[in-house]
Amino acid sequence: MNWLMQPGEVPVGSNAPGSEDYIGHSAVSAPVRGKLTKDAPLDKLVWFKSGGPADYLFEPADLDDLTTFLAMQPEGTPVMPIGLGSNLIIRDGGVPGVVVRLGKAFSSVEVRRDNILECGGGAPGILVASTARDAGIAGLEFLRGIPGTVGGFVCMNGGAYGREVADILVDCDVVFPNGDCVCIPASDLGYTYRHSNLPEGAIVVSARFQGDPGDPAVIGAEMERIAAEREASQPLRTRTGGSTFKNPEGKKAWQLVDEAGCRGLTMGGAQVSEKHANFLINTGDATSSDIEGLGEEVRRRVSEKTGVALEWEIKRVGRP
Ligand SMILES: Cc1cc2nc3c(=O)[nH]c(=O)nc-3n(C[C@H](O)[C@H](O)[C@H](O)COP(=O)(O)OP(=O)(O)OC[C@H]3O[C@@H](n4cnc5c(N)ncnc54)[C@H](O)[C@@H]3O)c2cc1C
Repeated sequence: MNWLMQPGEVPVGSNAPGSEDYIGHSAVSAPVRGKLTKDAPLDKLVWFKSGGPADYLFEPADLDDLTTFLAMQPEGTPVMPIGLGSNLIIRDGGVPGVVVRLGKAFSSVEVRRDNILECGGGAPGILVASTARDAGIAGLEFLRGIPGTVGGFVCMNGGAYGREVADILVDCDVVFPNGDCVCIPASDLGYTYRHSNLPEGAIVVSARFQGDPGDPAVIGAEMERIAAEREASQPLRTRTGGSTFKNPEGKKAWQLVDEAGCRGLTMGGAQVSEKHANFLINTGDATSSDIEGLGEEVRRRVSEKTGVALEWEIKRVGRP
């Protein structure tokens, strides 16, 4: 049990039916060891730094804490995992139900035999890539440039420089909203470009990635090249969500946005990046409604100018 409560945090034992903190009939006495926060601000947890609160934010102490907590929630309680929030617009009305954020217990990366890395669902891409480099495992360098967690990569089929998670994932352990934990092989995830068929509310708690034997010096040089290229071409030090739209077959989204004259376009505090036209940025005080509205305006203009219907890559979640 976590006895050190922060403002807004809820001791789970007080979460009784009829009380204002009630979220489910049997959540009442869940012996949660992690941290459960009611009306938890999410804006500070996402790259755009905008959006409303989660009804509840749960940061489990470990896997057992997570499965026990979820198993005690009433059927139908919405569950949403969040990683580094690098691909998310959290709408201004906040997120219903429970948002789950994996912390330290889910952030390790360990080397196994056959060039396999065992990674916690909350481990950042840079840690995966650098652990692979140090172990002489090639093929995971592209994760160096994607600012997310293993769970986010597996969900989004994250990729760059001609490689994607579908190329390296062996299998992953997934916790469902009812608390069941199952191992899913990569072949069952229905991977396509920036998409998996991972069910809503399913939380990737660990994943195994496989590479090939390689020379750490060569792997390291490739990672440095990737980092430098990113720095030169993307607005990395801004409040953004990465590529806004998927590249349509045979086309580049940023070129279509440019063709439609949208580079630099603004709405409220949101702007189409001058540096990379497929990035939206929060210039300071943008609401999520500004950001999403600007994205929709770009889609409208691109469709009018080029006939192409851009598809959102960024996930938009929560209540408007
Ligand atoms: C500057 C910048 C550059 C980027 N470049 C790239 C790029 O080159 N290639 C690329 O593919 N993406 C890129 N992105 C987008 C983003 O980094 C990826 O989509 C990444 O996979 C998101 O990871 P995350 O952990 O931050 O997930 P979040 O943004 O927190 O969430 C994204 C989705 O993943 C789900 N999710 C998060 N954690 C889990 C989990 N543990 N289990 C199950 N589902 C989960 C969320 O529910 C949500 O649906 C970029 C973003 C930025 C800001």
